[in-house]
Amino acid sequence: MRVLPIFPVYEGETVYSVISRYFAVMGYFNSNTLALQVFSMERKRIHPYLPNSLKKFANYFGEPIQETIKNRTLFPFFESTLSAIQASKLKAAMLGINGSPFHLSLTPQYGLKLFAGHKYCPECARRDMDNYGTTIWRIEHQIPGVSACAIHHCNLLGVKNNDLCLDRRLSLPTLNNQSNKANFTDVIFSRYSKKKLSQYKSSKCEHESVEEIINNLKALGFATPNGLLKYSQIVNELKFFWNGLNSNHPLGIPEPIQSFDFIGPMLRVKTRTPAHPMKYHLILCWLDNLKKAPCEYPTKSKNVKHNCDIEILKLAKAGKSMNLIEKELGVSRCYIRKLLEINGIYHKSNSMHLSEKVIRKVVIKGLYGYTIEDISQQLALKTSTIEHIFCRTKGLSLWRKNLRHQKKLANALAVIKSAVRKNPNWLRKDIKEHHNAEFFLVYYHNKQMLEDILPPRTSPVPPKLKRKRP
Ligand SMILES: [Zn+2]
Repeated sequence: MRVLPIFPVYEGETVYSVISRYFAVMGYFNSNTLALQVFSMERKRIHPYLPNSLKKFANYFGEPIQETIKNRTLFPFFESTLSAIQASKLKAAMLGINGSPFHLSLTPQYGLKLFAGHKYCPECARRDMDNYGTTIWRIEHQIPGVSACAIHHCNLLGVKNNDLCLDRRLSLPTLNNQSNKANFTDVIFSRYSKKKLSQYKSSKCEHESVEEIINNLKALGFATPNGLLKYSQIVNELKFFWNGLNSNHPLGIPEPIQSFDFIGPMLRVKTRTPAHPMKYHLILCWLDNLKKAPCEYPTKSKNVKHNCDIEILKLAKAGKSMNLIEKELGVSRCYIRKLLEINGIYHKSNSMHLSEKVIRKVVIKGLYGYTIEDISQQLALKTSTIEHIFCRTKGLSLWRKNLRHQKKLANALAVIKSAVRKNPNWLRKDIKEHHNAEFFLVYYHNKQMLEDILPPRTSPVPPKLKRKRP
């Protein structure tokens, strides 16, 4: 049986919504009859935003498959943060019958307690009833974490999947619900998510990148002079910006995310794993606000402190106390102390309790490459005190790192030289086999250095023939 010729499908309507409306229009007694016609299976669950069997759906309703996947699902939303391979797997699962798009979107892996069900805005439902004569489920309301309508600024209502198996029951939003005014910060997030979704759909912004976020953060002054990100400052600013988010809304952003503890693991290279698009949007919306890009969000954040080093030094030279500088600029006392000591400005904190003479002794021993334990014994100081002096002496940590490398290199050279001397019959490959770590340490440091101490190259010996030629 073909679809009714007068049955319209609306822009931004979910797959579940189209099926539910068609079920209502056709007046079937049992939804299984419709499932059999559209999906060729008797029982069918339809996910709110990541359904599968889309080829069969598009074929039945006479819609191009690319339009279906773009306008009726959140595939573009998840594609924006997934790798190309993972995104193609997700797409294949959504087009086919047997895959599980929800799992391939990595949502269970993110471990977030997100609302599982269909969401709608009571005001949008009323408007749709006036315009179309029916209510519909809209894809923009299904975005995870969105709890407010971006148009009507009211709270969305949710119908859980497990509520009498709604996803098999096929229903539409009801009209007899009052709308409640939503929290303003929730509306900001909804508007931003909706804007991003339409950008992904129109291919204006296809993929989110952590590198780009890091570059933007650095450009906005969230990096140390050594190029490291100031994570605690970023988290504080994010918390300040998203302060009004509703933490108790069952449809909204889960409370653990609102602590922004994910920032470090998400941005650090060593701990970086795929993150839910919601996390990207929380950061990107805040960054857009900071950059004062042409967006309509109010500037809520504190001013980012560019050149705060200069201001700290200026205040310190004017004789202001560290306490006062900390209060005025919001920079940690540890940072102020480090900056003052690097610039040779006297301060009255505890780290100055040692005399200049003792500190000088520690620094000189540090420069000579003595271990912290040795210096501790020789000068009767705590190891933590010595570490602290090393940290605040400009360039000393790097110098000691270089010394450690030189020491390792000298040891490796000695080991290889002694091996060459003791085993005159060894070939180069034998030395590499017996002293692999030392061999490669010298190799990566300086190839020529290794070339000078190894035995001369030998030409390869062809294998002996097993049988003599007649
Ligand atoms: Zn609405």
